Amino acid sequence: MGAIDVLIDVPDFISSRSWLIQLTRIFNRVESVGVNRTSLGRAPRFEPVRLGIDLDGVVANFTQGWMDFYNGQHGTALTFADSQNWQDLLTLTHFNTMTEFWRWAARLAGHTVFWHLRPFPDAVESLRALADEGHSVVILTSRPAMGRDDTHDWVKRHRIPAAEVHFLEHKWMVPCQVYLDDAPHLLPDLVRLRDDASVCRYVRPWNRPVDGAIDIHDWGEFRDLVAGLTVSASR
Ligand SMILES: [Mg+2]
Repeated sequence: MGAIDVLIDVPDFISSRSWLIQLTRIFNRVESVGVNRTSLGRAPRFEPVRLGIDLDGVVANFTQGWMDFYNGQHGTALTFADSQNWQDLLTLTHFNTMTEFWRWAARLAGHTVFWHLRPFPDAVESLRALADEGHSVVILTSRPAMGRDDTHDWVKRHRIPAAEVHFLEHKWMVPCQVYLDDAPHLLPDLVRLRDDASVCRYVRPWNRPVDGAIDIHDWGEFRDLVAGLTVSASR
């Protein structure tokens, strides 16, 4: 096998927000043409990590879930695209406070709203693949206490390979190497208080870029990022 040159435009590479993903893709491209990493003077070393994964807006489609019930009861035609801001649940409905909303959402067809939610495409499959690769999936959710039993049931029913499930607002208190969340009020704390971790913003209409957070647009991108972080070079 002859020598292979990998050309990288340094300014573009450094300036990209997704530079880790690019690095992973370059690494994979080198492998795909049959070059053993050891021939480049490095041996791969896999390092499993703890992945702190949010549920609503990341794994579970909470927005469409509550809208389906609300539309059925109130004759509205709300769709996922109507949700553009974190607090617009109150502006899109007749509820005046979140307390009123949660009281309603606690009793829907015999369960809380959380029991009924559908997973986003590719979310469950990606979590299974990451767990199969040896990573720990740590569920971090700020769902209210009334949703705990249904959350445990949901995680089990959808066969999500959760090593742990935590209910808490201050997610930074649970140590992980990678966090994936969509909550605009939680991401800055994760970046600030877990500066040794990779904090990922799952890009949704209701959040905005956060300094220090890595933007993730889909589960394939997240898996690429984890692969880039966890295959390190060692001699
Ligand atoms: Mg969320």
